[in-house]
Amino acid sequence: MRQALPKEPNILEVEKKWQGKWEEMGTYRFDWNDSRSPVFSIDTPPPYTSGEFHIGLVLNWTYFDVVARYKRMRGYNVHFPQGWDCHGLPIEVEVEKTNKIRKTDVPPDQFRKLCMQLAGKNIEGMKKSITRLGCSIDWSTEYKTMNPDYWRRTQLSYILLYNKGFIYRGKHPVNWCPRCETAIADAEVEHDTRNTELHYIRFKLEEGGFLEIATSRPELIPACVTVAVNPDDERYAKYVGKNIQVPTTDRMVKVITDDMVDPKFGTGVVMICTYGDKADVKTVIKHNLPVIMCIDDKGRMTKDAGEYAGLKSEEAKKAMLADLKGQGLVDKAEPLTQEVSLCWRCHTPIEILEREQWFMKTRILTDDVEKNALEITWYPDYMKHRLIDWAKSLEWDWVISRQRVFATPIPIWYCNNCNEIILAKPEWVPIDPRTEKPKIAKCPKCGSKDFRPERDVLDTWFDSSITCAVHAGWPDRKDWHRLFPASMHPSGVDIIRTWAYYLMVRHLALFNEKPYQSCLINGMVLGTDGREMHKHLGNYVASLEVMSKYGADATRQWATAGGATGSDIPFRWPDVEYGWRFLIKLWNASRFVNDLIADFEMNDKGEYALQPLDKWILSKAERLTKKVTDALEQCQFNIAIEETRNFAWHVFCDRYIEAVKDRLYKPEHYGEEKRKAAQCTLYTVLYRILQLLAPITPHVTEEIYQIMYADDKGSKSINLSVWPALDEKLIDEEIEKHGDLIVAIINEIRREKSEKHMPLNAPIRKLKTYAGSKDFAEMIEEGKEDICGTCKIEDFEVVSKKGDGREVANYSDVHFVMEC
Ligand SMILES: [Zn+2]
Ligand SMILES: [Zn+2]
Repeated sequence: MRQALPKEPNILEVEKKWQGKWEEMGTYRFDWNDSRSPVFSIDTPPPYTSGEFHIGLVLNWTYFDVVARYKRMRGYNVHFPQGWDCHGLPIEVEVEKTNKIRKTDVPPDQFRKLCMQLAGKNIEGMKKSITRLGCSIDWSTEYKTMNPDYWRRTQLSYILLYNKGFIYRGKHPVNWCPRCETAIADAEVEHDTRNTELHYIRFKLEEGGFLEIATSRPELIPACVTVAVNPDDERYAKYVGKNIQVPTTDRMVKVITDDMVDPKFGTGVVMICTYGDKADVKTVIKHNLPVIMCIDDKGRMTKDAGEYAGLKSEEAKKAMLADLKGQGLVDKAEPLTQEVSLCWRCHTPIEILEREQWFMKTRILTDDVEKNALEITWYPDYMKHRLIDWAKSLEWDWVISRQRVFATPIPIWYCNNCNEIILAKPEWVPIDPRTEKPKIAKCPKCGSKDFRPERDVLDTWFDSSITCAVHAGWPDRKDWHRLFPASMHPSGVDIIRTWAYYLMVRHLALFNEKPYQSCLINGMVLGTDGREMHKHLGNYVASLEVMSKYGADATRQWATAGGATGSDIPFRWPDVEYGWRFLIKLWNASRFVNDLIADFEMNDKGEYALQPLDKWILSKAERLTKKVTDALEQCQFNIAIEETRNFAWHVFCDRYIEAVKDRLYKPEHYGEEKRKAAQCTLYTVLYRILQLLAPITPHVTEEIYQIMYADDKGSKSINLSVWPALDEKLIDEEIEKHGDLIVAIINEIRREKSEKHMPLNAPIRKLKTYAGSKDFAEMIEEGKEDICGTCKIEDFEVVSKKGDGREVANYSDVHFVMEC
């Protein structure tokens, strides 16, 4: 006898229980000793340790956990690691905020310690959320990029790239956040529009008269290195080559032509400053102009700004305008809507500063990036263009140095005597040059023993962009190519330009190989009102709130059913509630089936006297298996869940179970053989449903499996059971047509009863069916027993001719007359 399923499932408890047991049993460990099974490796993104595993990450992790679970059932040895991307600005900014300090107020190791504590605390919370979501991660792989063991890998990759000529130090304009006081990469710059003013300012010509320029940033006037007009602009042709004075300074600059100047903007005369924006950088290089940096690291005016030195740029702007007005040089101001570049973390407008920085050559890899992006399988396919377009749009190499504290140190020293660069040897890492000396006796060039460390640190993306190799076991395992390239890299649509791109260029540069074979893209989660989700919009939902109310399996149904892979999906409470109700329905149906098959044991031959309806549902279950398998192969999770739920709820529960109840309750009427056939069908189809659902709702299906099937089937978890192999010979269109007709007649009779306000189990004295054809008459005759049993018909007659009476929906030739 089978164990009974409890009446009221405590889904939340069931989920927690299995999360604990799976970990205890090591259900999801990768087996390095298994040399027979094919390997499937997931390049799990190490999430940034912000402390919140937000709903967007829930979507992301659900997607690739479904893939991991599906692949395991397909017989793959799945490697599903998890790390944490700890370094970087957000943690520093938060430490500064909570402790009310700036990074420079305390010694670096103390600041670093505070950062590590915060990151550690954040990781604990996020790990709980990932576990709560039921992700089948192999936690024995857990790593943190802030730990020395990970530094070792990051630094080793730096040394290798340096030696291959991919890394250089250079003075170059960089995006600079004056709030965070660090260089940031193009990928970390956000764009927004803001309203400002366009000021019309007179620049005096040396020979008398003036030209009027329009600028939104008069505070940059001290950094003006030339004034430019369009070469085709006849209004100004006569001034080209003339000297013009930069207001508030005694400097003269030349008027030049440049075809980047838009004659329709402002007056058609622009000042070129070093640097107002990226366009200025191009002009400066093109015309070989000098560079004047009038804004410093902290966003204050430098001594090159003359009397404005020391002011913040906003203050300098006001002071400058007041002075210019005093000198009668300001003509007017107009409102202007302008695109501004902001720091992605603190939303401060960035400045373009010229600084000595470390760079990685990435643009030389663009053709390679494109070639590999085209070879990779993308889910969905069109996302490959995001990567290719981004790579092609880049104008600057990747600035990899940061002027921060909490990051992987750059393994470099300089000779104080001759400035020779001392690069760490591979066997020295992990090493922190800020606290350790190079392991050499003297400078190889001049023999000096006096060194100074590189104090800059590495961009956090430099840590996280080698995960494909690190997950595979590089550099410690000789066999790391077993897991490399990763079978799948999952990414949010918003981080293709960072994560997917940096992974690609780094692995191409290091190993001359693409890092991943496929890329799975998730869209953004929109708020409850369909707008972007933001705390301040009041449409924000915390993932833990959802999971503590409805659990993981309902949440995972929302995530998978919400839309096509790659598209943005809104968060909708009703979708999660629907998922919850489905689980209850599945539970109740399983409990019912479990009672009906309590005495059933599969016979040795597995041969039963299957009735038309049994064959009908078995054929439909097979067709469903094909659909779901195809959908999961293509990462179309919404199709997989919708098809399975519809089948389970509306075909299996509402139709099949209802139609065979009588056969199961009354063996004395139908015979034991037909009862067993129905039992076997229930047993088989419910198991199929549980298996098809397991990747998406792993907890509830596990609980039902363990109670009803584990003893027979033998897998220690449904999540490790073998995915159903498609049995094409069970798919039978004729049988399905046949069953559809029987089911349609049963439904029509039930509708008739309910319209006549009869109870569904009320007996019908006589029912005469006009089949309209010989074929239909035969089919109905064969299903007679199930029709009569379900509808309590005492006398059932089928004739093949057409007749009057109630028409069966979708079968215009089939009618019946009912006598009560
Ligand atoms: Zn910033
Ligand atoms: Zn030296």
